[in-house]
Amino acid sequence: MPPHARRTVVSLLGAPAFATCAAAALSTGFLIVAHAMPPTAQDPGPGWTLTVLGIAQDGGMPHLGCQRHFCADARAGRRPAERVSSLGLVHEPSGRAYLFDATPDMPAQLDALTGGAAPDGIFLTHGHIGHYTGLVFLGKEVLAADGVTVYGTRRMADFLTSNGPWSLLVSDGHIALDVVAPDEPLALGDGLRVTAFTVPHRDEFTDTVGYRIDGPRASALFIPDVDRWDRWDRDIRALVDDVDLAFLDGTFSSADEIAGRSFDEIRHPLIPDTRRRLAGTGADVWFIHLNHSNPALAGAPDVAREGMAFGL
Ligand SMILES: [Zn+2]
Ligand SMILES: [Zn+2]
Repeated sequence: MPPHARRTVVSLLGAPAFATCAAAALSTGFLIVAHAMPPTAQDPGPGWTLTVLGIAQDGGMPHLGCQRHFCADARAGRRPAERVSSLGLVHEPSGRAYLFDATPDMPAQLDALTGGAAPDGIFLTHGHIGHYTGLVFLGKEVLAADGVTVYGTRRMADFLTSNGPWSLLVSDGHIALDVVAPDEPLALGDGLRVTAFTVPHRDEFTDTVGYRIDGPRASALFIPDVDRWDRWDRDIRALVDDVDLAFLDGTFSSADEIAGRSFDEIRHPLIPDTRRRLAGTGADVWFIHLNHSNPALAGAPDVAREGMAFGL
């Protein structure tokens, strides 16, 4: 796809098309983005839609224990709260729906994605609290789901099978584990493929993956949690250049955000470094998984917003 075909058109529901004001996006909380249409295309037609369901680091925003301005403003209703980082994928013609990560905010995120119904599948990146603990809502006490497919690595699947309360979800049939092999595309039908790939991260209980999502019209990367780019044996620039959209770890903008932690102890790429590495790419890059301390939450134009939707 030539670079000019990758331009993102951003419009706000209920506002003039092509509005891109980040402040307006924050106040309305909903963006829709028609993406990756060739210049001659008028209507992407029904198909797969990828939606941003949350942009915060595992603890959300406001963040327990935090009295700094973003968190105080969110508690006081002066700015929106931010749900935990997640993407939703829906096939409009059939209504099939998938989640990328099961966050502590999963009930509200499924309300937005499916009207509160169980998804057809959930792709997990790893075993940190913001990325899988939403699975509890599929159990007997809440949804009592019937065999929702949960995709994860072998270590992720073994962790869920071997530790309560997750093991009950497996043994009672509320979830059905499907082990993904890194770098092997999984076809979901209707022209959609999902490929997991291993990324470096704090892997205490499970390993960690990102996902590449290939639709009939566009492709996306989802890497919400990763160690710094130079600690990975893959070239993030080459991976991003090969897709239309990238949702990347935007946890921190600066090592100064966490008092007492040195740069070497910040195990995430910093947003300015990622911007520099990806300058001039033809892909649309959006930061996701922002810590409550991150000044980019003030409305940096490349920070993803809950409700953004992209045609795949
Ligand atoms: Zn995380
Ligand atoms: Zn993590």
